[in-house]
Amino acid sequence: MSREFGIVYSPKYADVLNPPNHPLQGTRYLESIRFFDEVGILDSVKLIEPEPATNYEILLAHTEDHLQLVQRLSEHGKGEFDADTPAYKGIFEVARLTTGGSITALHSVLRGHVKCAMNLSGGFHHAMPNQARGYCIFNDVNILGTILLNRGFQRILYVEIDAHFGDGTYLFFKDTPRFFTLSFHESGESLYPYSDEQLFGEGEGYGYHLNVPIPIWADDDAFQYAFNSTFLPIVTSYEPDFIIFQSGVDGHCRDWQSHLLLTKTAYQTVARTLRELLDDTWPKTKLIVLGGGGYDPLAASLCWAVVINELAKLNLDLTPYDDNCEKEPYENINVMEKTEQIVDELLPFLNPEKPDR
Ligand SMILES: [Zn+2]
Repeated sequence: MSREFGIVYSPKYADVLNPPNHPLQGTRYLESIRFFDEVGILDSVKLIEPEPATNYEILLAHTEDHLQLVQRLSEHGKGEFDADTPAYKGIFEVARLTTGGSITALHSVLRGHVKCAMNLSGGFHHAMPNQARGYCIFNDVNILGTILLNRGFQRILYVEIDAHFGDGTYLFFKDTPRFFTLSFHESGESLYPYSDEQLFGEGEGYGYHLNVPIPIWADDDAFQYAFNSTFLPIVTSYEPDFIIFQSGVDGHCRDWQSHLLLTKTAYQTVARTLRELLDDTWPKTKLIVLGGGGYDPLAASLCWAVVINELAKLNLDLTPYDDNCEKEPYENINVMEKTEQIVDELLPFLNPEKPDR
């Protein structure tokens, strides 16, 4: 059973040369693989080598100008794409490999080599067609979505639980009902990319996109309330034929990139819900997983391990590994009450009709 789960990974994922004070460092990949080995995950899954993305694949979601700029800054090893996203020598090669890793994950699932695959370095959901931003050089989610739409998939559900709203992916697909973007993220009142409106898609896509802004200092209870009240109604009425799960873990209570207080339990709940749904309701629906954010290497490796443990049904006991939470709320907010209000406002959008074929 377990070898049906693939992890796409290369040690070259760690060739990130951001300045030492930048949150995105290669250690998160190295630590994750070390931890997966320690707890026995690597004995039971298939490790898959990523293929670098081709220019043709990158151009499915990006402009020629953008591709050339990344290549140029990568050669010079200087400059920045935005204030959060510096260039370094070889950044093109790293971005091309990690983007290709998501495509490799997709192909291994579509070709039936594994039942489910996860690209550890994927889910770069802030990149725009013509701009790298928010640590994201190429938007692998948009490339995967385009490949799947071109292949004739009718209802692709993209669900992300990253602390940050995936604005680059929402904007790319907002006009289509065939790629549902469902985003659980910390409210833009307190976190990048600071877009707090509720967004439901546009034109034909209206009603096929939903973002759930989780209030600052939300804990597992509030997060699980928001997830359980919205995910199941949407997924049940939309009936996706493919699911892309962006499992960003930067909402963890050790990760200083957000103001959320989630523990491994929240991530386990989401992964278990997904697995049960695919096992019991839609055994033919395919799933791939993209790592997403997660900037505390110990927290990220634990949360990703918990997600893999559930999705691959490894039955490893990870309870001895503590979350070692560090963040404390510095203001007093009734998080559950606020979460209930947010969910109530979304009720009219929870039962989308299946789009016409
Ligand atoms: Zn994030």
